[in-house]
Amino acid sequence: MEISSVSVDVNGKSNNRFPLSLYFKLANQLIKQAKVFRDERNIIDLCTILERYCRLVSKIPQHSSYSTYSVQEKLHHNKVHQELTTELENLKSQLSHGFRTQKDQEVYNERKVENGGAEETKIQSSTINVNCVTQSSPFPVLTFIQSVPEAVQLSHIAASDSGDGQSQSSCQDVHISVRLMEDFLELARDNTNKDLETCGVLGAFLKNGIFYITTLIIPKQETTSSSCQALNEEEIYAVQSEHSLFPLGWIHTHPSQSCFMSSIDLHTQYCYQLMLPEAVAIVMAPTDSTRNYGIFRLSDPGGTTVLKECQERGFHPHKEPSDGSPIYEDCSNVYVNPNLRFEIFDLR
Ligand SMILES: [Zn+2]
Ligand SMILES: [Zn+2]
Repeated sequence: MEISSVSVDVNGKSNNRFPLSLYFKLANQLIKQAKVFRDERNIIDLCTILERYCRLVSKIPQHSSYSTYSVQEKLHHNKVHQELTTELENLKSQLSHGFRTQKDQEVYNERKVENGGAEETKIQSSTINVNCVTQSSPFPVLTFIQSVPEAVQLSHIAASDSGDGQSQSSCQDVHISVRLMEDFLELARDNTNKDLETCGVLGAFLKNGIFYITTLIIPKQETTSSSCQALNEEEIYAVQSEHSLFPLGWIHTHPSQSCFMSSIDLHTQYCYQLMLPEAVAIVMAPTDSTRNYGIFRLSDPGGTTVLKECQERGFHPHKEPSDGSPIYEDCSNVYVNPNLRFEIFDLR
C-alpha cells in the first residue's frame, strides 16, 4: 500500500528533542523583536527577523506534535505569517531600490531625522554596545567583562577540513568570545575528569546584522562518556527569552573522544538549526591533540535533508547528502570577538 507523503511523519521522534511549545515561543519572540526593530526603523535587522520568523513558521509543521497542537495558536501564526511575508516583500523591494547597505539606511534615517520627522528615531550607529546585557536572576550567574582594547580584533574561524562552509552564505555573521569557550571547559572540568560529557546552551542577540553570543546557560543534564542530554528545555528558554536572547546553538565536551559530531549530536544540531539557521554546535575535545575545539553546522540543504528524513535513534550511521556536500561542516562566518562581554547561568 502506498502512503501519501503528506501523512508520513518524516520527522520522527529523533528530531523532536524540543517540545513544540518551544518553537511557538520562539515564533512569538521573533514577532516581539520585529516590533522593536520596526519601531527603531532598523530595516536591515527587521528583515533578518522577519525572514527567520517566516522560515521558522514554515518548518514548525514538521514537528510530530503539530497535528495535536492548539488550533488557535496555529491559526494565529498562519495569519501573522501572511502579514509578515507581505511586509518582508515590501521591505526587500525598498532595499533593492534604495538601501543596499546598513550605511545607506543610516544615511536615510539621519536625513529623515533632519527633515523634522518628530517621531523618527535615529537608529544606533554601527558602534556596538555589547555591555547592554544586564540582569538580575534567581540563578547563580557569573559575569565577565573584558577590557576593551583600542581596536576590535576579530579572529575569523577558518573553515578547514570538514567542508568549505559554502552552504552557509545566507547566514548572518556570529561573534563569540573565546573566553566563553575556555570558561565552559573550566566549569566542565569535574565531569571531564570523570569521563562524563557536559553541555551548555548559547544565547545571542542581533544587532546591525550580527548575532552576538553573550550568554552561556549550563542546564541540569543527564550525561555519559559519549552523550549529554539537557533537561527541562523550558527552564533554559525562560532564561533566554527573559533577556531577549535567541537560542543560537549549544556547546558540549568530548572528554575522551576526538573533535567530531556524533550521530546523536547531528540530530540535536538539526533541532537547533530548525529554530535558527545561524545556530552553531561547539565541540570541546581537550584530549584531541590535533584539534581541541570545533564550531560546526549541518550543511544546508545537504545535511539538513539527511537529518530531516532520518528516524533512527541512538548512535547510527547516516548516508551521505545527495548533493555531495559533507553532512556537517566548519562554520564559515563565526568570529572570535575579544571584546564581547558574556554571562554564564549555571542551573545545575
Ligand atoms: Zn558529541
Ligand atoms: Zn539519524
